[in-house]
Amino acid sequence: MRILIVEDELSLREGLFDLMVGDGHTVTCVADGAAAVEVGVAEHFDVVLLDRMLPKMDGMEVCRRLRAARPTMSILMLTARASEDDKVAGLSEGADDYLTKPFAARELLARVRALGRRHLGNAASDVIELGQLHLELGQLRGTRQEVEFSLSPREAGIIRLLYRSRPNSVSRAELLESVWGARGSIQTRAVDMAMATLRKKLEDNSSKPRFLVTVKGIGYRWGEG
Ligand code: CA
Repeated sequence: MRILIVEDELSLREGLFDLMVGDGHTVTCVADGAAAVEVGVAEHFDVVLLDRMLPKMDGMEVCRRLRAARPTMSILMLTARASEDDKVAGLSEGADDYLTKPFAARELLARVRALGRRHLGNAASDVIELGQLHLELGQLRGTRQEVEFSLSPREAGIIRLLYRSRPNSVSRAELLESVWGARGSIQTRAVDMAMATLRKKLEDNSSKPRFLVTVKGIGYRWGEG
């Protein structure tokens, strides 16, 4: 998943970064509330780890603004305060979950994974926005440079698998098994043909793909665009 860490304490920020990268996530860190809003509105993150007490803008206000701009982003509030009132306030500003410092690493990882699962299980969040490219996988459609196109269920499956696996690559065999439901009975060339068709829909220049990137000798990965 793509994770945004918002924490002003350097040692804690670094600790969170190491923890999330170690769990296989792609991580961006910022140290104050204003930067969090700027980055979180401009780019999509699957989960935001948001400190409650921040310089420049309070965590509650950051939460409210991120929630307004990106309704499907999961927000996990981290706080030194333990009062029930704060918990209620955080959740009412749109946080999905709440964790009180100090917390155990495995507790945080479990919460982040749970948010990720909820995210993937929610049809409305099957929306990917990357600049000029907008995809609604559940609806089998998308737009690029404001031109609409449709997706086959298989194409949506390819995008979903690559997007969820990023930044790791996915082998042709894995794509065949997950998306085609086939083991060995279909040539891996079918994957390359499907990818060529899909690139024409998603990419501005299909010979220089930004999203559906070939990984030589392995398969494909989702480029960050
Ligand atoms: Ca703080």
